Amino acid sequence: MTEFANAMEVFKLLDKSNCRKCNEQTCLAFASRVFLGERALNECPVLPLEILEQYRDKQKKKQTRQEYRESFLAEEKEKIRALDLEEAAKRTGGTFSQGRLTLRIFGKPFSIDQNGDMYADIHINPWVAAPVLGYVMRCQGPPDGPMGPHAGTQGRPGEKRPLCPAFGKSLKK
Ligand code: SF4
Repeated sequence: MTEFANAMEVFKLLDKSNCRKCNEQTCLAFASRVFLGERALNECPVLPLEILEQYRDKQKKKQTRQEYRESFLAEEKEKIRALDLEEAAKRTGGTFSQGRLTLRIFGKPFSIDQNGDMYADIHINPWVAAPVLGYVMRCQGPPDGPMGPHAGTQGRPGEKRPLCPAFGKSLKK
């Protein structure tokens, strides 16, 4: 889908001659395909340049929720690649071994490697992966802990170990 509200919004821009120079049967058919992101506005050869210029941004494809989730996770994984996982393990209350940072979530071990790939006994869907990756990157430990200022965690006063904000449990015994 594009950012047009519907096919009629595209149709109103066309000259409605049904000339078929775009190889569609009608302007409405062309408008529908532009709305769906299957054709570009500039494939109508009779459309004035001013209109093309004015509506260029609306042709951008809207991301579906699935596409948004995937691109968000890809960005988070990219950040994990630049992260020192061993340091992150200390900061988050996890452990580091054989190139993987391991946290205990829902009572089960979750491991993350340097590519941001996750390993656990349970199925990891994007709703689980995103907060865990975010926690690994942004948790700064408890407010009075050795890692300095609190940033995004919800550790209790006096808690010696940082808490996972997504799950509210101490990650290290
Ligand atoms: S080329 Fe443009 S005006 Fe002609 S049918 Fe296609 S959309 Fe309509």
